Amino acid sequence: MNEWEFETVSIHAGFDKDGVTGATSVPVYQTAAFAYDTAGELHDVFRGKKFGYVYSRIANPTVAALENKINAMEQGMGAVVTSSGMSAIATVVFTLTASGDRILASKSIFAGTVLFFNTICKKYGIHIDYIDITDTAAVRNSIGRNTKCIFAETIGNPRLDVSDVYALAEIAGGADIPLVLDSTVTTPYLFPSKKYGVAVVIHSMTKYLTGNGSSLGGVVVDLGNYDWRTTKIESFAPFIEKAGDMAFLVAARKHVVQNIGVNISPFNAFLQNLGTETLPLRMERHCANALELAEFLEKHPKVTAAHYPGLGGNPFRELARRQFDDRYGGMITLQLGTKEKCFHFIANLRLAKNLANLGDAKTLVIHPSSTIYGDFTDEEKKTFGVSVDLIRISVGLENIKDIINDFDRALREVD
Ligand SMILES: *Cc1c(COP(=O)(O)O)cnc(C)c1O
Repeated sequence: MNEWEFETVSIHAGFDKDGVTGATSVPVYQTAAFAYDTAGELHDVFRGKKFGYVYSRIANPTVAALENKINAMEQGMGAVVTSSGMSAIATVVFTLTASGDRILASKSIFAGTVLFFNTICKKYGIHIDYIDITDTAAVRNSIGRNTKCIFAETIGNPRLDVSDVYALAEIAGGADIPLVLDSTVTTPYLFPSKKYGVAVVIHSMTKYLTGNGSSLGGVVVDLGNYDWRTTKIESFAPFIEKAGDMAFLVAARKHVVQNIGVNISPFNAFLQNLGTETLPLRMERHCANALELAEFLEKHPKVTAAHYPGLGGNPFRELARRQFDDRYGGMITLQLGTKEKCFHFIANLRLAKNLANLGDAKTLVIHPSSTIYGDFTDEEKKTFGVSVDLIRISVGLENIKDIINDFDRALREVD
């Protein structure tokens, strides 16, 4: 499979055809359990002596097809698909850390991740040290004895700052801890995490991987860049003994996903697998539309500031150009001066939808300060780059003329 180019992998990897019927679309095995004729057979499958499925909280063939495809896209050691992006993040955190451990995390990350870190993790004694991920010296100096991983996003949301992933991987490698990267907004298509030395990559598949806003899902991929056998994560010892190189994946699946039960429904896995077939085509269009819209908005008289890593004056443009092969993703942020103007502008839009999602075929907008970040203090909002006059845009796949016309008209009507 490794000889195929990305576009081909997106369509063909993970599943060939059904062995009985020849169906080329992945069958939806919508079942909780799998029956065997004899007690001996089920015993063998349970003990791992014979391949087979037992119960969908442990594994399911529809989900396995999706896991194999995402793993092929990332050229990893294996993937674990979960019920959502958040459960994928929780799976990684619970696999790597125990009470008393610390995570060094970018302060410019998805709000849901911050809430998970600041509530559940805190409650169970896992401490998060937030840093400016673009300050690599600070990252290096902030790794302590109990730091068990570095956690970053490729492009921070909504600050749109870009992580220098190669530098972060080097720092993590020097400290012998894994670099965990949430690459949701860049997807495996825009960013080859393995090549950059990332240990574990996470995607919320709800977004671009599915691409149509139809269902939630998440995935964790071990890229094989980190040697778990030398890790200082104490709980790994039994897994290393049993599974060697596969220790992380076995620990994540058997220790966390199976015990907490954050499994995806087979039907959702089916929808997400369908979505991934067109990921490369869609990402090209998202990026092209976003660049054109950002260039339009930057010059618009009603816009105070437009932020997009692909814009000429953007401080992250050169780094983004190198890392994402001259493409800059589908997210733009906009400042309009006041909250009232933002609300007025959103009310004026006819095409773009006002909702809390991203990576949809449809163009989406949201006012983060009053919605996603509603529970944060003003001080915290400032840290996360969420000003009261900020609008986040997820640029969709519509004809760019219609998108620009919608924004232009809605802006002109703002006084
Ligand atoms: C949406 C998102 C998540 C969470 O994913 P869900 O599927 O909504 O649980 C995590 N990280 C990033 C960057 C996201 O955009």
